Order: sequence, then structure tokens, then C-alpha cells
Amino acid sequence: MITERPALRALAVDDEAFQLKLITRQLAKLGITDTVTCDNAADALAQVQADPARFELICCDLQMPHMDGVEFVRHLGEMHFPGALVLISGEDERILRTAERLARAHGLQVRGALHKPVSPEQLAQAVHAASKAATAPPKPACGQRIYTGDEVAEAIKGGQLVNWYQPTVELSTGRMRGVESLVRWQHPQDGLVMPDRFIGVAEHNGLIDALTGAVLTQALQQARHWQDAGLPLQVSVNVSMDNLTDHAFPGLVADALERAGLPASRLILEVTETRLMRDPVATLDILTRLRLKRVSLSIDDFGTGHSSLSQLRDVPFDELKVDRSFVDGASHNPELRTLLLASLEMAQQLGLRTVAEGVEHLADWRLLQAHGCDLAQGYFIGRPMNSTALKEWMADWEQRRPGLRAEPQVAELR
Ligand code: C2E
Ligand code: MG
Ligand code: MG
Repeated sequence: MITERPALRALAVDDEAFQLKLITRQLAKLGITDTVTCDNAADALAQVQADPARFELICCDLQMPHMDGVEFVRHLGEMHFPGALVLISGEDERILRTAERLARAHGLQVRGALHKPVSPEQLAQAVHAASKAATAPPKPACGQRIYTGDEVAEAIKGGQLVNWYQPTVELSTGRMRGVESLVRWQHPQDGLVMPDRFIGVAEHNGLIDALTGAVLTQALQQARHWQDAGLPLQVSVNVSMDNLTDHAFPGLVADALERAGLPASRLILEVTETRLMRDPVATLDILTRLRLKRVSLSIDDFGTGHSSLSQLRDVPFDELKVDRSFVDGASHNPELRTLLLASLEMAQQLGLRTVAEGVEHLADWRLLQAHGCDLAQGYFIGRPMNSTALKEWMADWEQRRPGLRAEPQVAELR
């Protein structure tokens, strides 16, 4: 409950006196009784600059004369304002969303982007989130540690990289189709380290071939165990663009498949353009040879700046994974829905298998199902987990699955 926490120190910025009064009153109802108000962003900025720790919450309008909300937010970002930010605007939804993304890109803690008139419930939610964050213990310093190439090299050599697996299931039947392999570093001191903290380091230090080799071998061995247990699952492995500059790569993949005793059709390589293609001709050559060897190729994070139409034009992909930023919430956001459905339709017309990443809610699952998306992956189905946990997940999923099939179930119609 908000009232159980110490009240936040708040600053409200809006050029309209009426709006300032309104927000101050709404905040007071939420237990924040001494809100400082400013009718222009320059004054507000001066207040924050004088003492950046003075405010834990800033509620800021976007449309203001002289310095507008976007500029104000940029200055907050430059001074690394550590508190919570709530954007409030009468502008259309797209402008508000863009301003929100901008604020996040500046590293600010955005707790809400609300339309005028602000509903008390929405403001309460934003204040609750701000107040939770303000009282949360600070993240341990190791959370910020940047690993060196030597440390990552040691981790690869020392077998500290472990694959977690996230299930992919058929939307029409709910049947499990395969898993995506997602690497983690079981660090002796720092615990489980996520891939975004070491993949880039590996790429920059010439270690990505060794990393991908380790992940691939582990994933295929695991797939072999599943096969022996009567589960012929497909395994997806993420590859970096840097893997696709070495002409030996298709041969290494074929060798790994042979060692595991699996057909190439069991493997899907997921490609995202995280870095510019250094040698587009070599990359195309390598990808085409992988397809000739019957390995599947998936364009990952489709729709983001990294995975684009030109890649789709040039590379013989046979699967398209729509990025989760177009999937999560598409059922209630008309713009997202338009982009999602257009991507699915395009992929379907190109004869590609479609996968939706980041399915977190039943309503999005149903939307995807209604539009013929083939496969789904996301927290609604199952989070990434180690191979032991995956076994338990399978049993649970078999219980949930009947209610999620394409035909409406009797229980749902009641
Ligand atoms: P990706 O390949 O797009 O993988 C999906 C990411 O989304 C995973 O993050 C997964 O945990 C997360 N995710 C899955 N479902 C949901 C959902 O419903 N909601 C939300 N919010 N997130 C979801 P993770 O494991 O942190 O991996 C991040 C990225 O790191 C991967 O993105 C992939 O690009 C890269 N990566 C992971 N393993 C490897 C690897 O072995 N090699 C390379 N080169 N990259 C890898
Ligand atoms: Mg992936
Ligand atoms: Mg992805």
C-alpha cells in the first residue's frame, strides 16, 4: 500500500495553473501532501539542479511554451536524475509513447505516461510504482560490473556457460514444438549472468566463435537426450553476425550435428543483425550453404532496426520471429496490432513459418491464434529454464494446453 511507505517528495511541472492544482490534489489523495509546483520547465530544472536528491517523483507536462517537456526530460537525463518520472500530456497517444521511449533512452525511470485528464487510478498506479522503486534496496554493485574479454574467455573455457531453454508451442494445438537455447553464465561470484552482459564482450574480443560453439554443442547434446527420451524437439540457437564471416562455420555446424547424431532439420539458427554485416557477400554465402545443408534459418527480432526487410529480401530464411515489442499488448493496442498482423501476413505470403516472441497474456495468444501465427514463445507459455525445470514445465503445460486450443472451449463460452 502506498500509505505504508514514506510519502514521496514530488515536483509537478505544467504551464496551466488549473492542471497544477488538479495534480497536486490528486497526489495529496495518494498521501503526497507537499508537492512543489512550477509553471515552467526552466524553473523546475533550476530546482532539480540545485538539489537533485530533493525530489523522488516528477510529474511533467509535455506541451509547454519556451522549454517543452521533451527538452526538460533531456536535461533530467543529462544530470542522471535518479527519481521517478511521470509524463502527462494532452497530445495524441503516439507523441506520448515516443516521449516515453525517449525518456527511457535517456536512462530515466519512467513510471507512467498518462493522458489528460489523468484518471486517479492511473496516477495511483504510477505513484505506487515510483514509491516501490524508491524504497527498493539498491542493486548490488556487481550488477553494473563490466566483464573483460579475459573473464569471458575463462568462462567459455571453464564450462561456466550454461544453456537455458524456453519452449515454443504451436498456437493451434498448444503442442510443444521445440525450445530456444538462451545462454547464461553461471558466474562463481556474481551468480547467474544474463547474455546481454557478455555477448557483446565476446563479439568485441574475437570470442564469439568459441561461445557459439559451446552453446551449439550443449544444445545439440541436450536435443539428443530429449530424442532418446522420445521427444524429437527442434532446437533454436542464436548466432551472431560475427559467426557468419567464417567460411568454416557451416562445416562446424554440420560436424556438431553429426557428433550429436541429429538430422540438420532439428536445428534452427536465429540471426539478428546486432552489428553491421562486415562482409555481406561472405554472410550470404555462409547462410545459403547452411540452408543447403537443411539447417533452418530464422530472422530474429523482426521489426526492430536490426532485422529488416532487406535482410528478408537477401537471405533464404524459412522462419520469421516477430519481435516481442510488437506482440506484447497487441490485443488492446490498435497500432501494435496493425504492425503485428502486417508482419504475419507478409511472412505467410513469403511462405515463412511465423513465431511470435514475448507472448505474456492470453488475449495476445488468442489474437495470434485467430491470425494463423504458427508458433508462440513467451512468459505466458513458459520462461527460459534449465533442462531439469523444463521437464516439470512439460507436465504442467499438458494440463493447461487443452484450454488453449484454437476451438473455443466449453468452459470459455460459459
Ligand atoms: P532473443 O534471441 O530475442 O531471445 C529472447 C529474449 O526474450 C530472451 O532474453 C528471453 O528471456 C526474453 N523473453 C522471452 N519471452 C519473454 C516474454 O514473454 N517477455 C519478456 N519481457 N521477455 C521474454 P535473454 O535470455 O536475456 O536473451 C537476450 C538476447 O541475448 C537474446 O534475444 C539473444 O539475442 C541473445 N542471446 C541469448 N543467448 C545467446 C547465444 O547463445 N548466442 C548469441 N549470439 N546471442 C544470445
Ligand atoms: Mg533468439
Ligand atoms: Mg528475439
